[in-house]
Amino acid sequence: MKRLKELDLKNQHVLLRVDFNVPVKEGKVTDTTRIEAAKETIDYILKSGASLVLMSHRGRPKGEFKEEFSMEPVRKASEEILGMEIKPLFSSQVVDADVVARARELQPGEVGMIENLRFRPEEEKNGEEFARELSQLGDIFVNDAFGTAHRAHASNVGVVQFLPSVLGFLMGREVEVLSDLMNNAEKPFVAILGGAKVSDKIQVIENLLNKVDRLIIVGAMANTFLAAKGKDMGKSLVEEDQFDLAISLLQRGRDKGVEILLPIDVVVSTSIENGEGAKVVSTDEIGADEMALDMGPDTISAIEAALEDAKSVIWNGPAGVFETEPFHKGTFAIAEALAKLDANVVIGGGDSAAAIKQSGLEDKMSHISSGGGASLEYLEGKTLPGIAAVEGV
Ligand code: ADP
Ligand code: MG
Repeated sequence: MKRLKELDLKNQHVLLRVDFNVPVKEGKVTDTTRIEAAKETIDYILKSGASLVLMSHRGRPKGEFKEEFSMEPVRKASEEILGMEIKPLFSSQVVDADVVARARELQPGEVGMIENLRFRPEEEKNGEEFARELSQLGDIFVNDAFGTAHRAHASNVGVVQFLPSVLGFLMGREVEVLSDLMNNAEKPFVAILGGAKVSDKIQVIENLLNKVDRLIIVGAMANTFLAAKGKDMGKSLVEEDQFDLAISLLQRGRDKGVEILLPIDVVVSTSIENGEGAKVVSTDEIGADEMALDMGPDTISAIEAALEDAKSVIWNGPAGVFETEPFHKGTFAIAEALAKLDANVVIGGGDSAAAIKQSGLEDKMSHISSGGGASLEYLEGKTLPGIAAVEGV
């Protein structure tokens, strides 16, 4: 498969799928991370003497034009980040004859942006006719939207049948880092899995049990494992319908020689909102009206020890309710332990990425995946349609 750098882009019209599904409040983009992440690919395309049409979805307008989901705030924020004019090629139909004509008039080095792809119901259904319409906006298609790589939509999969297609730099890096981790991780390979629910991540746990040397289970996910083993978890978030599965996963880990770590102490409270009476207790001493909302210091020490000689780490899922003090400590302690390692450290998952950013240790990680759902499906061992369409795998 060809790489972006191998293509001659001079005087070409490039159609670029980006993930600019950014938060907008009162007409202003409040987090520009995703726009910044696409800058490298955009700059390269423009420097190579091509013109560029940007396309993305934003929010859930459910297949029809809705002003509040317009790309206009994103276009303005992108102009600031790229330091150049971005022409609005806007139509409530997303693509029509006028949009195509104006896209075709773009000169080398010029950029336009079309309206929210999800104003058209065919986008999420991968409608062939809509994909063909989109393909008229360019001579070459570049996909740099890892956030939607786990979905087969018109703008990332359908369009590929009509145009020569390559992955952008952001996508290319995601594929390289994640496939390297899943296929050739240097050992010891340690996974830290947490977050809200076991049921969201069963496939991830199962797949990683085949790959890692150690599995550290934290967050509310750990509550379910502890409860399944007979611990009284009080009012903690647990999934009773996952008890059998939890036990069988632990057994499978033992059979495969994977060391599995569960919390030995936790921070409990009777209130998530105000942290009332928050205290550290052993997992044998959780009160009937208390919830385990973070890990305790002994667990943190055990995790630090389990990470010490790691050469590869995948982390998905916060270790506690990190959004609320005082339940952030365990999650941030993991971030700090990871920051000190001389290892390939990869973070997947939307909330995990947010936690790392909050910790300020982003730059110390090898890679933070730009796609929450997509990275999870990759860790499940699935082929992502957005990658497969372009790479032909
Ligand atoms: P990711 O998006 O990184 O995959 P998840 O969505 O699975 O992560 O989980 C993140 C959520 O899990 C956070 O909102 C966090 O507050 C919650 N969480 C973590 N630990 C606990 C806990 N002990 N009790 C309740 N919620 C928890
Ligand atoms: Mg999440």
